[in-house]
Amino acid sequence: MASAQDTADCILVVEDSRSVAGWLAGRIEETLGLEALVAGSRAAAQRLLESDGARIGAAVLDLDLPDAPRGEVVVDLVERQIPSLVLTATLEDDLRDQLVGAGVCDYILKDAPDAVDSVLRTLQRILRNRSIGVLVVDDSRSAREYLVHLLGRWGFRCFEAGRGQEALERIAADDAQCIRLVLCDQNMPGMDGTTLIRELRRRYPLPRLGIIGVSSHGSGLLSARLLKAGADDFLTRPFLEEELSVRVNQNVDLMELLREAREGARRDPLTGLHNRLYLDEIAEQLSETARRTQQPLVALVVDLDHFKAINDRLGHFGGDTVLQRVAEQLRDTVRRADVLVRSGGEEFFIVTLGIDASGARTLAERIRNGIETLDLVYEGESVAISASIGVAVLEGGSVEAALKAADLAVYEAKRQGRNCVAGLPGPD
Ligand code: GH3
Ligand code: MG
Ligand code: MG
Repeated sequence: MASAQDTADCILVVEDSRSVAGWLAGRIEETLGLEALVAGSRAAAQRLLESDGARIGAAVLDLDLPDAPRGEVVVDLVERQIPSLVLTATLEDDLRDQLVGAGVCDYILKDAPDAVDSVLRTLQRILRNRSIGVLVVDDSRSAREYLVHLLGRWGFRCFEAGRGQEALERIAADDAQCIRLVLCDQNMPGMDGTTLIRELRRRYPLPRLGIIGVSSHGSGLLSARLLKAGADDFLTRPFLEEELSVRVNQNVDLMELLREAREGARRDPLTGLHNRLYLDEIAEQLSETARRTQQPLVALVVDLDHFKAINDRLGHFGGDTVLQRVAEQLRDTVRRADVLVRSGGEEFFIVTLGIDASGARTLAERIRNGIETLDLVYEGESVAISASIGVAVLEGGSVEAALKAADLAVYEAKRQGRNCVAGLPGPD
């Protein structure tokens, strides 16, 4: 149900003033990193739609064009289900009715001081929405279709369920976690909206899933009940198109912010690797998977040698650059499924399943050798670096126990003279 193609990689700007078009296109390319195609008339827009229609993810439209003075170009875009926003000089009520009726997703006053920022923000939302699934739950098919139609204007991927139970099953089967928001009607046979919302909230906390309850006008306390049951927001029917789009977009904005904040707290800003907090969070699950699948749990602790001396020689910024290069090297050496974190300072942890003791030693040697042979030059000076690596291979143990054993092995590697691998298994 996506209204724009997922592969679309450019924005169409339809504007007859060359200077405005050029400026807008520049801001779009600079801010969104997408190509902006510019058309100065409806005919030019139509030609671009013919030649490049599948590449266009969204459009910014001027209503007053030399060959289409009353916003006729809107039809060309809406017909192709390309989310479109309009830049307009005036906004009387009937123009608003006409634009919303024609299917534009948003309209922005040209002369508003933050007009361009609003355009960019709206485009960003449209592009983001292509990866966000919304499940519309309503027993009335026409009500579902209406909501799906409006959400499609904003580029959301839409899914439908006619019953509460169906909605629960749909989300449970959504392994890719595509569905991020549920719009849920209150009055449904079987499981009503409040019950469904309570059940959804119990299983899926924010920011995994946002929930907006939809109630009917005159239903009194219902909106409060929907919120109490766990909805993040509610809509009362009948609603204006803008009310729906603002609430939906704001809720998705909030979830994305929460997600970014969570993700940010689990990343090391210097190297971009995950940090200790992330490892601590997934450790239990990882240990459990190892036990269930009867795979050995492999932990590596990688500690850079004489790093203090590197800092003394290159300064702290030089040391930081070395840490970034080592992190890159580690990222390139481990597999995607392996857990790699900067545990602190000049120390990294790797936890992996699916290899045996000799595989673990091979991996550790590869990492040791990769760091030793790094081609590092800082401010014209070549820098030699090495690491001591402790390895532990545990059958049926926990991540914590494996890391403890690997950490002890690092001390052994340091004692053996550094730039070597120690711990289980032995060298043969
Ligand atoms: P060893 O071979 O015994 O491991 O010696 P070392 O000097 O590497 O070990 P030590 O633990 O004594 O020192 C670690 C150094 O790493 C000290 C600290 O200043 C430096 N370090 C920790 N975090 C950072 C960082 O984020 N950036 C930089 N540049 N240095 C850091
Ligand atoms: Mg250390
Ligand atoms: Mg060290």
